[in-house]
Amino acid sequence: MKKGIFIVISGPSGVGKDTIVNKLISDGYGIYSISMTTRKRRIGEVDGKDYFFLTKEEFEENIKKNNLFEYAIYNGYYYGTPKDFVFNNINNGTNVIAIIDVQGAMKIESKYSDALSIFIMPPSFEELEKRLKNRHTDTEDNIRKRLEIAKKEISYKDKYDYVVVNDDLDRCINEIKNIIDTCN
Ligand code: 5GP
Repeated sequence: MKKGIFIVISGPSGVGKDTIVNKLISDGYGIYSISMTTRKRRIGEVDGKDYFFLTKEEFEENIKKNNLFEYAIYNGYYYGTPKDFVFNNINNGTNVIAIIDVQGAMKIESKYSDALSIFIMPPSFEELEKRLKNRHTDTEDNIRKRLEIAKKEISYKDKYDYVVVNDDLDRCINEIKNIIDTCN
């Protein structure tokens, strides 16, 4: 049986990754890899749907048990990808789509070179700042930290298989669909 593709999506906070991935999933391009995290749940987020929200101790237990394919610390919190879910589905021919920071994406590239990595770029840094502020989900201080991290993340973009600019949502999604179609 033909294997599914492990699609790894990265990009700075506020670039639109969630919207893009939700659309890819509703259009049948794969299923979502739900990450584990120790960060606090945002209003509207659902445990077991957006993330598995764990305590630091619970997360570290998962590291010890080797349950994670990769994990990273982002903005002071753990984030990680449960291993079995990804590989059970890929081996069954289903694409799995994960939203992962650059540290995690680099680990995946080195462990599983068949992964398809895509970096989403904002049209400009000013636009990214505007989007983060308009989202009203983070404090001023958190936004400042996320923008600092964004600068570092963007410097890794050339290590990805593809870089796609989210200048226009539909255009960006279509470009990603074309990339996935050519890999299928
Ligand atoms: P947020 O707190 O905005 O949901 O996510 C913060 C960052 O963590 C984003 O860059 C996102 O891509 C990353 N992230 C989410 N899940 C994972 C994961 O399982 N592993 C890694 N390494 N990063 C993740």
